[in-house]
Amino acid sequence: MALDISRAAGTVLDVGNVAIARDSRMGGEMLSRAVTSGLLSTGCSVIDIGPAPTPTLQFMVPRLGCVGGIMVTASHNPPEFNGIKVMGPDGIEVSREVEGRIEDVYFGKTFRIATWNRIGTVGSYDRAVREFIDGVKRHIDIQRTQQRKLTVVVDCANSVGSLVTPQLMRELGCKIFSINSQLDGTFPGRNPEPIPENLVELSRAAVSVGADIGIAHDGDADRATFVDEKGQVLWGDQSFALIASRVLGKKPGSTLVTPVSSGRLIEDIVTQTGAKIVWTEVGSVVVSHKLKEIGADLGGEENGGVFYPPHQPVRDGAMTAAQVVEILAAGRESLSELIGELPRYASAKTKVPVPAEKKDRILDVLLRMTEGQNRVTLDGVKLIYGEGWILMRPSGTEPLWRCFAEGKSQKTADKLCQQGMKLIQEAIGRL
Ligand code: MG
Repeated sequence: MALDISRAAGTVLDVGNVAIARDSRMGGEMLSRAVTSGLLSTGCSVIDIGPAPTPTLQFMVPRLGCVGGIMVTASHNPPEFNGIKVMGPDGIEVSREVEGRIEDVYFGKTFRIATWNRIGTVGSYDRAVREFIDGVKRHIDIQRTQQRKLTVVVDCANSVGSLVTPQLMRELGCKIFSINSQLDGTFPGRNPEPIPENLVELSRAAVSVGADIGIAHDGDADRATFVDEKGQVLWGDQSFALIASRVLGKKPGSTLVTPVSSGRLIEDIVTQTGAKIVWTEVGSVVVSHKLKEIGADLGGEENGGVFYPPHQPVRDGAMTAAQVVEILAAGRESLSELIGELPRYASAKTKVPVPAEKKDRILDVLLRMTEGQNRVTLDGVKLIYGEGWILMRPSGTEPLWRCFAEGKSQKTADKLCQQGMKLIQEAIGRL
């Protein structure tokens, strides 16, 4: 399967160099070799940058003049999973449309087959991590971080973040303690998803060494989750809000791109800084492409994925970590104090099982039912009220609709969530 996916990807990409990388998962090496063979057979050549974070590969693809990139990773998923991500010549994951073309070639077996004298060659590039770290540092006030000498604990989930972030933090003048930072595809330290239940050890370590901040990555280090000096895990939208307030505040009239699932906190920051918000469908790839298309200043997701286009328009855990460290170094306040200054909102979510044959038609009914209301209809229906908002979306994989709500209090959030659930049920009833 990996071989044929890469043959299909190579067929859709132009003939040229394709950079490849992998995370620390078992099977990463096996799959990279299949990917290499597949690409070579289409006439593409391979530049192997070895184990590296996804954002490091993405950073290198345009800089090495590649026609694309392939990352072997399953991101935040459990250890037994693996996957293949295809990037275009700009280093951004290919759009759904290009993915569709790759699928067509894969299923139709209409591969481009190079003649014997056009088969690609294999090379390697061992300066990727160094160049990537230098790339991140260009956007950070290093003098300031070096003066502040913050204490940082880094938890890299035994994967490729450990090749970049501890070294980057050291070069920013931080005192570093690292945990789960040797490469191990069995993920002995923790599950690679950086959510609170997997970060208990990081919280404890941060408190016990008196750290100013803890940083955790997922398996391919495109995301960073933070722990404050008290060991509290920050919500993704809180770190996103800190960065947004800094980036958007620096340049009046800037533009932020975020999916409709993002909450009121980010809207508050956008209002405070006089910036403009552009909503997208849910999914990091859509955000990346929109950032590039309109030349926006910042992108972000409520799960803690932050996109900083002056560096590159993709989620980047190391860049995100460096930005939060820089913000912390700029003042005397602790991370918990900075977070304490942000407005607080409560959220609620629920799912409504729907008959499979009605699932796709519910959207039309909901659109008619909510006509004229303050809403965003890019991906499901998002209703915006003074006291909060409701987002109703079909599940991508299951016969159900999901409903998310946010309000100033838990009571309001729960009430809005109930209201959304009733709307979905009413829509089902009308069909
Ligand atoms: Mg990831």
